[in-house]
Amino acid sequence: MAEFEHEHVRVAVIGSGFGGLGAAVRLRREGVTDFVVLERADAVGGTWRDNSYPGCACDVPSHLYSFSFAPNPEWPRTFSGQEHIRAYLEHVTDTFGLRPHIRLNHEVTMMTWDAEKLWWKIEAANGTTLVADVVVSATGPLSDPKTPDVPGLDTFPGRVFHSARWDHDYDLTGKRVAMIGTGASAIQIVPAIQPQVDKLTLFQRTPPWVMPRADRAISGAERWLHRTVPATGKARRGLLWGIRELQVQAFTKRPDELGFIETIAKANMAKSIKDPALRARLTPDYRIGCKRILLSSTYYPALAQPNVDVVASGLSEVRGSTVVAADGTETEVDAIIFGTGFHVTDMPIADRVVGADGITLAETWKGGMESLRGASAVGFPNWMTIIGPNTGLGNSSMILMIEAQLNYLADYLRQLDTLGGRVALAARPSAVGAWNRRVQERMKRTVWNTGGCDSWYLDANGRNTTVWPGTTSEFRRATREVNLAEYDVVRAEVPAPAEVEGAVA
Ligand code: NAP
Repeated sequence: MAEFEHEHVRVAVIGSGFGGLGAAVRLRREGVTDFVVLERADAVGGTWRDNSYPGCACDVPSHLYSFSFAPNPEWPRTFSGQEHIRAYLEHVTDTFGLRPHIRLNHEVTMMTWDAEKLWWKIEAANGTTLVADVVVSATGPLSDPKTPDVPGLDTFPGRVFHSARWDHDYDLTGKRVAMIGTGASAIQIVPAIQPQVDKLTLFQRTPPWVMPRADRAISGAERWLHRTVPATGKARRGLLWGIRELQVQAFTKRPDELGFIETIAKANMAKSIKDPALRARLTPDYRIGCKRILLSSTYYPALAQPNVDVVASGLSEVRGSTVVAADGTETEVDAIIFGTGFHVTDMPIADRVVGADGITLAETWKGGMESLRGASAVGFPNWMTIIGPNTGLGNSSMILMIEAQLNYLADYLRQLDTLGGRVALAARPSAVGAWNRRVQERMKRTVWNTGGCDSWYLDANGRNTTVWPGTTSEFRRATREVNLAEYDVVRAEVPAPAEVEGAVA
């Protein structure tokens, strides 16, 4: 066998959610066909495949929460449900001819940079090994569910599952259910299951701010119009985008201006919650926007139903079939559903990447996640993240940020081509430092840092390493092209073997 025995591709994309599929489309459009998409599950769709809980829908309007290059005139609702978003991603996969590139059931277990050959060696759980010149990590921040370490949970005799791993074989009808958490997932689940269960006990550690959701069916006439005159769909998207761009200043520079929205959220609550004691328990004591603003017109009406109890305390212990809150409240239940979020600032994939210095991304990021323009970390040449550090949004569509990062990816590959030969770009520590100092400086005034709450936007050190403190247009400008001065150009000393095998062409 030759010195080199593994399949070699130009680009390996990890994950097939919005980020990974978007990257695949962009690669093809750039004329790059020598790439694979490695997906750990048996289908594409990422978070929209994994989150199939009752009531799951997107709280960003569908005409904005979709690719600009794949408009969908057929969105059935203003805020479409999970099944429609998942179907949209399947449709994108077919329309853009991505299937031949996608390797399902390929869970990446290790990615190791070879500083001599200038490529990434990628190992998957099914025994596959391949090498790639460039890795695009599109595993997403909301992909690994987080379940709190609750003493006694292993003694619970009933069913336990996480919102992102819904147990569809378990019939909740007539059951006593403990719902843990009051984030974006839980507030969709509660109204969906409340009519079905016997008793629902909601463990609320921190009350969320909940605004009404103006969800409605998109009429046949509107769909006809968008289908027949595509510019109308574009205009609709543009309007949705523009409104959100105008809101950004309040989140990032003038959180006090958000105060008036609290009035609307309080009215949304007062409309359904007549009991003043319950209203008090449900009223947040921090500035709206500090945590993600939730949208629901059915959450409070569900909480007002006689079969729902709100325990204003976190889950602290399980004793057999009894769940115990931190305030001592005890409730006997048949099932526990965790709506407790994801490993965002401690994402498990970071333990599976070993960079140029022989250390993992998790070790590199132990003081906090940091990348250049949300894409390149120090010590990880030719390894890019889609939805990397500080690219999240509090009020608009992540697809806009993904597409901005795809522009950056396209230019990154062009730069490598122009440089020619076996070459890698390694983000300079000074450039990464400068970028992150600017981001953190701007972060100081934002509602996420000053609003008086704890959220998944902040890491264990209290640093906001997740959200972008600006408009989507600013981010788009910042990622339009790669500034080579921010990278060291690394060249291979040994030429790569010629007898490499390409992937799908
Ligand atoms: P999340 O926002 O992280 O919420 C987790 C919830 O669990 C919080 O309410 C947290 O309380 C609570 N919690 C954690 N440990 C607890 C304990 N021991 N006892 C009681 N409560 C506990 O997670 P998520 O709801 O899954 O949402 C995550 C993100 O996914 C969202 O912010 C959003 O970006 C995305 N998402 C989007 C949509 C959409 O419509 N587009 C829908 C669902 C999710 P604390 O607040 O006190 O920490």
